Formats: sequence, structure tokens, C-alpha cells
Amino acid sequence: MPLRIIQEPDQLRSRPDVVVIGSGIVGLATAFFASREGLRVLIIEAMRSPTSLTSRRSGEGVRAQWELPHNIAIAQESIALYKHFGELVGDPANDAGYRPIGYLYASREPHAAAALKARVERQAKVGLEGIEYLEGAALHDKAPLLAPDVIGASFRRGDGVISIDRIIAGYKSTMDADLVLDTIVHAIKPDAGGVIIESSRGSISAGAVVVAAGAKSIGLFNGFAYAPVMKTAKSSIMRVKAEGIPADHPTTIDVDIGSFWRPDEGGARITASFSGTLFVEDGVDDPAPEPGYLNHAMATVMPMTPRWKHWSENLLDSHLRTGTFAVSEDGAPVIGPLPDAPNVYVNGGYGGHGVMMSPGGGRRLSKMLADGRHDPADLFSVERFHDGRKLVPEAMTIHLTDHPN
Ligand SMILES: Cc1cc2nc3c(=O)[nH]c(=O)nc-3n(C[C@H](O)[C@H](O)[C@H](O)COP(=O)(O)OP(=O)(O)OC[C@H]3O[C@@H](n4cnc5c(N)ncnc54)[C@H](O)[C@@H]3O)c2cc1C
Repeated sequence: MPLRIIQEPDQLRSRPDVVVIGSGIVGLATAFFASREGLRVLIIEAMRSPTSLTSRRSGEGVRAQWELPHNIAIAQESIALYKHFGELVGDPANDAGYRPIGYLYASREPHAAAALKARVERQAKVGLEGIEYLEGAALHDKAPLLAPDVIGASFRRGDGVISIDRIIAGYKSTMDADLVLDTIVHAIKPDAGGVIIESSRGSISAGAVVVAAGAKSIGLFNGFAYAPVMKTAKSSIMRVKAEGIPADHPTTIDVDIGSFWRPDEGGARITASFSGTLFVEDGVDDPAPEPGYLNHAMATVMPMTPRWKHWSENLLDSHLRTGTFAVSEDGAPVIGPLPDAPNVYVNGGYGGHGVMMSPGGGRRLSKMLADGRHDPADLFSVERFHDGRKLVPEAMTIHLTDHPN
């Protein structure tokens, strides 16, 4: 049964068990798995079409190369769900466009290469499957376009890319849920046995609510004493068209400079190096792109892949996308209820990794909604920001510091 778009909330057949605020990739994954648990789900979306804010601007990359075991686990779980997406949504033809081209974290510096090697050993010990350290001929055979002075790299073949459009289509085609568009949630009020959601189309009563409003989630927790600790950040990706970029080249991250590029249809996507996260005001729909981004992007991918000099001089087209997302204080997602409001849940704070982790996050949250059970000690819980435990930042994510850029 496909997702039903309803015109007004009062057309609902019955009170929803759960309202999901936001139809980005995180909201859709949450609603999909919650409906599979047999819950009556209503998605409320502020915009006139679903999934049109940040999720469609993403690089569509997926990787399980993380430092912390819980982040490795949720990423591996999510990539496995994408790998078998057609089965998940009950339509083998609707795959997720998953292509395991691999992610290569590479360095030209001896100390950084040694650190990559040590990290690979740690990752393998905590259960990351398929991770390997490459150097010498093995590395340059795998990625012949790398500069000769690249010393070593971590590589995992199962990392790669997906198609957000195919995933959205798959979720929508088999989700037994309702979606109301053009409706802005202003406030959430806990109520006996549930919640009242105040929106631009009036109040809606539900058993529970999941805030999956991406960068705009933070403001929806005003008034709650134990909210998740998150900030809004922006990131950009340059899509370029050029002839001769190999479609199966691994996604390449220059760990010395901090740049990223991966092949795309008829071209590539590049995120230029950055020295930290660019934090922005909460609630920006169309953040301003950094000036001069194209030239900066080209300059930061050339040292590792010198062929970019030729491609940059022969570009057929280029297009910059900039978007915002909420990033949690330790860089890991936040999945679970608020400690002081058990019917108010959050699924967010994924930072630049909401596409690659949302299937696992949506599935976990849906189980909590269905079972009514939640472990406050869970490493993704909201409690971690408030119970005095020491947060361990995920090293393989954007730096959690402001910078002027
Ligand atoms: C340039 C760039 C590249 C990226 N690359 C990758 C990548 O390669 N891999 C990866 O995994 N991630 C990547 N990301 C991060 C990823 O895009 C985000 O983590 C993900 O899209 C977040 O999804 P979301 O559903 O939480 O948010 P969104 O997609 O922003 O969706 C939130 C939805 O909530 C709605 N909403 C907000 N407030 C309200 C309200 N009050 N009432 C009703 N509706 C509301 C919004 O309109 C929106 O539709 C990238 C991000 C950027 C910007």
C-alpha cells in the first residue's frame, strides 16, 4: 500500500499512534519502519513536496568506516538494509541504487598513513567487516589515478553510494501511512496518554511524536528540560560534469587536506577541504554557498588525484548544493525519547551522515515505539547529554568546533 497524501489533518481516519515531524530521509525511514510495526503513522511536512530540504542535497555516500563501535554497527546495519532494499520494500525492481565502489581514506604523510593503519586494526577488532589497509602496489593498483607519493590508505569495498530518489520511491511505494504537506509544526505539548502537536493547520492529538525535522529539530525542543544537545551546521557539495572520470573509482578522501570526491553519472561530486564545521543559525532553508567554492574544490582534490587538473580545465557543467543539518555534541545520532517526556522522541543529530545511518536509526526507533521499551544507557539515547556520563566524540566526523571559514 503506498503512502497516502492527505489534504487536511482532519481527514485522518483515526488518531495516529505516532506523528513523525519531517519527511526527510530520517522521517521517511522512521515512518516506514513504524508502519511495518503495525503503528498508525502520520507524517507532517512543512514544505509542499516531501523530502525536499537537505536529504536531496546530500552526496548519497554510505560508509561503515567509523571509529566507535556503535557508529560502525548502525552504519553496517543500514548499508545491509540498502543492499537488500528491494526485498525490504517488497519490490525487487526497486533497489536502492547501491554501488559498493568503496571509500578510500588516503595519505601522503608517513605519520598519517601509520595512523590509518592503526585505525584499520582497531576497526577490524570491533567488528568492521571488509576493512583493509593498502600500501605500495596494492594501493596504486586499486586506484591508479592516485598521485605516486600517496603512501597508504584504508579501504572498504562495501562502502559506496546509493540513490536517494530510489530510496524515497521505495519507502513511499509500500508505506502504510499518511502524509500531510504544507503544514508547519510550531510546538509539542505532552498530554495524558500522548501528545498534542500544534501546527499551522490546528492541533493534532497522537499517542507519540518523533521529531525528525533535520536542522529545524532544535527549536521544537524549546520548553523541554532534557533536550538533545545539537547544533546546526552547513555543508556543500559540488557536482561537476567532465569526460573520462571512471565510474568505478573509489570515493577518495584526502586525510591530509580533508577533501572528498567520488564519481557520479558523467562526472563527480566534490566536497572541498574544510578546517571544521560551519555552524549556522537554526532554520535556514537555503544557506548561502561559500564564495569561490568551485576553484577551492578543484584545488583541494588535485594533490591526491592529479588528473583533476585536466578534468577541471575541461568541465562541461558544475552545480553547487549547500544544505544544513543538525549535528549532536558527540557526532553520533540521537535516537530515543526525551527523559522528561516519554511520548516525545527524537531521531536526528546525524550530522553529515543521515542518509547512511537512517535505516538503522529508523528501525531502532520504531522498535522503541512499538515495544514501549527504551534503554537510557544506550549510546544513542538523549540521556547521554544529561546523566553526567563522559561523551566520546566520533573521530571520523566533522570537527565539532566553530570556525570562520
Ligand atoms: C552537502 C551535503 C552532503 C551530504 N552528504 C551526505 C552523504 O554523502 N551521506 C550521508 O549519509 N549524509 C550526507 N549529508 C547529510 C544528510 O543529507 C543529512 O544528514 C540528512 O539529509 C538529514 O535528513 P533529515 O531527514 O534529518 O533532514 P531533512 O532532509 O532536512 O528533512 C527534514 C524535514 O523536516 C521538515 N521540517 C522541518 N521543520 C518542520 C516543522 N516545524 N514542521 C514540519 N516539518 C518540518 C523539513 O521541511 C524537511 O523536509 C550531506 C549533507 C549535505 C548538506
